[in-house]
Amino acid sequence: MSDLFTPQFWSLGLCDELIRATDDLGYQEPTPVQLATIPAVLRGEDIWVSAKTGSGKTAAFVLPVLQALRMRPARAHGSVFALLLVPTRELAVQTAAAIDALAAHLPARPKTCVAVGGVSINPQMLLLRGGADVVVATPGRLLDLCDNNAVVLADVQMLVLDEADRLFSLGFADELSRIMALLPAHCQRLLFSATFPAAIRALAASLLREPTQINIDAGALPDAHAIAQRVIEVDANRRTMLLRHLLDTHAWTHTLVFVATKQAASTVAQKLTRAGLRASALHGDQSQRVRTQALANFKAGELQVLVATDLAGRGIDIDDLPAVVNYDLPRSPTDYLHRIGRTGRAGGSGVAISFIDASTAAHFALIERRHHLSLMRETIVGFEPTLAAPQPLNPGGVKGKRKSKKDKLREAAARAKVPS
Ligand code: ADP
Ligand code: MG
Repeated sequence: MSDLFTPQFWSLGLCDELIRATDDLGYQEPTPVQLATIPAVLRGEDIWVSAKTGSGKTAAFVLPVLQALRMRPARAHGSVFALLLVPTRELAVQTAAAIDALAAHLPARPKTCVAVGGVSINPQMLLLRGGADVVVATPGRLLDLCDNNAVVLADVQMLVLDEADRLFSLGFADELSRIMALLPAHCQRLLFSATFPAAIRALAASLLREPTQINIDAGALPDAHAIAQRVIEVDANRRTMLLRHLLDTHAWTHTLVFVATKQAASTVAQKLTRAGLRASALHGDQSQRVRTQALANFKAGELQVLVATDLAGRGIDIDDLPAVVNYDLPRSPTDYLHRIGRTGRAGGSGVAISFIDASTAAHFALIERRHHLSLMRETIVGFEPTLAAPQPLNPGGVKGKRKSKKDKLREAAARAKVPS
């Protein structure tokens, strides 16, 4: 694993107690699905995750559920905070065990109830008195309990459907729709699966609101060795010109450009189109049809440039994306990682370019520090900034220290990757 770029649990926004638990379990770093999923869940998004078996999906939902639980105000008597639906009893028991292990250091241990068929319902009814923080259930038994007024779902804040493809295909459809009808409209919905056959996509889409799609094959972790990271200083009002120049002078078949807002996505895409480039925007205000079409055109090579917001760009999975441009910087170090991870995938090589100016230089320096990076600042002839971005006080080094040999090696490595 790259020492340049090892993502850590602490960078995902989880509290210390949960990080300690991952430590206890010997998890040295988040898996790609955890990396992509946890921040999105913490932001309150509906998500739809497909990642293969063994990729660590359980912790990808248990950790943010526990974090949300820790942050919530006191639970009303009788209510259920999180409902985890699974297709089998075995999986319910296993999931409850994962919750126990990951909650080990929380100041208040969550009340977790397993509600599955095949065993007597009475102990489950007793246990559910007063509600629960987390209920892990199979659909049939959950409905029995609802019918007996043993559990109330009207206050559920988070719903997780694990092994959703199996949940949908085992003839659970009717039961699922009955359960969905009992949940409050605002409940956050998370859907996990190893595969998503076409037949259940529509069903999944109908259960989620504008879900963030996360599609990961294990091993697709951003690998800094395959990604040349460049930082170019340019005045904000000349970024589109510089982008056009870069597109002209590099033979990138596909370029994904990230911007901060939906508005900027449209504006930049329009400017590029007017300049004769095949470009399109991708953002959350577009209809799903428009988004799907833009993405399909991009993948098919009919579009050269896609200008996307973080949210819209998240699910993008293109095997050989040669270039990612941060036209606007990402808000967080984690988003930086998601963005640049769009390139250099599956053993390919790619370049990730960030535009900075005097007002964003400090923010970029923070992203670098978080990822232990120290990248050279470039200027491009004809696009030199009029207001130079201030150099970091101790470029490349820890505050107050001279550059270490390692820092120098990193810098040299970063320079060596800059394509001519
Ligand atoms: P999935 O649901 O995607 O099939 P699981 O959540 O069951 O995968 O996880 C598979 C195995 O990986 C489990 O044994 C789990 O403890 C382990 N695991 C999960 N996350 C990590 C991690 N970050 N580092 C190391 N092992 C992990
Ligand atoms: Mg699983």
